[in-house]
Amino acid sequence: MSVVRAEGLRRTYRSPGRMVTALDGVNLVAPAGALVAITGRSGSGKTTLLNLLGGLDRPDAGHVWIDGQEITALDDHALTQLRRGTIGYIFQSFGLLPTLSAAENVALPLRIAGIPAREREERVRAALAEVGLSERARHRPDELSGGEQQRVAIARALAARPSVILADEPTAELDSTNARAIFGLLRAIVDRGEIALIVATHDRTLLDLATETHELRDGRLVS
Ligand code: ADP
Ligand code: MG
Repeated sequence: MSVVRAEGLRRTYRSPGRMVTALDGVNLVAPAGALVAITGRSGSGKTTLLNLLGGLDRPDAGHVWIDGQEITALDDHALTQLRRGTIGYIFQSFGLLPTLSAAENVALPLRIAGIPAREREERVRAALAEVGLSERARHRPDELSGGEQQRVAIARALAARPSVILADEPTAELDSTNARAIFGLLRAIVDRGEIALIVATHDRTLLDLATETHELRDGRLVS
């Protein structure tokens, strides 16, 4: 069963005097266990596509299914509920709260989702162990390297037990050694077969770790 499926996605931005069709008929399928890479020059629509797949934005036309459920048919409330437990996000700039420790950052979405304290602690512990940061649980982001901060963000995504992780240029702010380590970690997570991972990336040197690669060009995906 495919975890993520998109059909005919179209998204046009309208600003005064200007219309940009960022996506113009995008189809995509990502099964559990796959690491699907989306490449394309800056401005080619990668972020737009990830936002539509994750329900952060709505298409002008087309449909998105996650775990067989059409998220483009849900109202905002139902979509927020579904997103919380199903979709994890990883961003270029990590998106950690600076005043919280690594463990508190990982715990925050679980707290918002109403996960009880005992289970929360267990999930945080397991997620930080999975990314190799058990020893860093009490450190704040400014006490961690960029690579470590991105590992915390990955742990935060994992702790929600998502079926899909969407990563928007997750290695863009890292040096090549850390970038490869982060990509390798994502690959290992996906290899357990439970999660579909869709990653937008500029970095062609990482594409050998992807299951498949598609390029966004003129609003369309080419393989
Ligand atoms: P990428 O992530 O590949 O750099 P984006 O999805 O951010 O590409 O942008 C695709 C196109 O849509 C670009 O031309 C960009 O300028 C335009 N765009 C993105 N977001 C907006 C917005 N909120 N308003 C107007 N235009 C936008
Ligand atoms: Mg982008």
